[in-house]
Amino acid sequence: MSRVALITGGMGGLGEAICIKMAALGYKVVTTYSPGNKSWNEWLDSMNKMGYGFRAYACDVADFQSAKSCVETIVKEVGAIDVLVNNAGITRDMTFKKMDSVNWDAVMSTNLDSVFNMTKQVCDGMVERNWGRIINISSVNGQKGAFGQTNYSAAKAGMHGFSKALALEVARKGVTVNTISPGYIGTKMVMAIPTDVLDSKIIPQIPMGRLGKPEEVAGLVAYLASDEAAFLTGANIAINGGQHMH
Ligand code: NDP
Repeated sequence: MSRVALITGGMGGLGEAICIKMAALGYKVVTTYSPGNKSWNEWLDSMNKMGYGFRAYACDVADFQSAKSCVETIVKEVGAIDVLVNNAGITRDMTFKKMDSVNWDAVMSTNLDSVFNMTKQVCDGMVERNWGRIINISSVNGQKGAFGQTNYSAAKAGMHGFSKALALEVARKGVTVNTISPGYIGTKMVMAIPTDVLDSKIIPQIPMGRLGKPEEVAGLVAYLASDEAAFLTGANIAINGGQHMH
């Protein structure tokens, strides 16, 4: 029977590539969209016309109750979740001088509380079944810091602290917990950066001289989700074209 993979934020740039990769590998793919997303149905229709068979559920990952009821529905309608990819995230960049609590809280709750909110719903089941994969999508900027991103860097670094601690707790139960820290990937989030900033400031920092591709991150997710990756846990895997090595 095929495994169920739940990818939060699957309608975004990275998430879509992850959903496509996991479907190609035979997983039953379920994704979430934020309650404010008005075009979820169009995305789902266009994907399913291509034969992917995705399921999509509304969920505010920043809200515990929303995460709880969403996962309950998924388990009822699709089945128990074997692979959780915590991918949904936002940025609200501004210097610390301008940072207010609204933009701090929004980034912390969407990028970090969400990891608790979603993982809490699936972890006990994975432990009971002696198999599970939790994959947290962090960022190079959580590893190295970034100007204007005290909120985002803190949340993304926090995700990896979570991965390491939970990895210890579930290591004997066939459940692995890992972090992926992508560098700059050519998704809408990054393509929204003005071209001159990309060309003059960002690309020159990347030894490979290019942005990453969503498919390259999706390939790493697929590996971490696989049976072959059973001995890999508590790791933070950088995928950044050589931009930051540690
Ligand atoms: P996108 O903006 O394209 O996608 C983000 C996704 O998060 C969207 O699908 C969105 O859902 C979802 N989302 C946001 N807020 C919520 C919420 N409250 N509840 C549920 N879903 C929500 O970004 P990317 O695909 O580029 O990024 C995906 C992840 O990768 C993020 O965590 C990001 O921080 C990280 N990352 C990205 C990098 C890049 O270069 N692109 C580099 C490093 C890390 P909806 O569309 O339904 O609103």
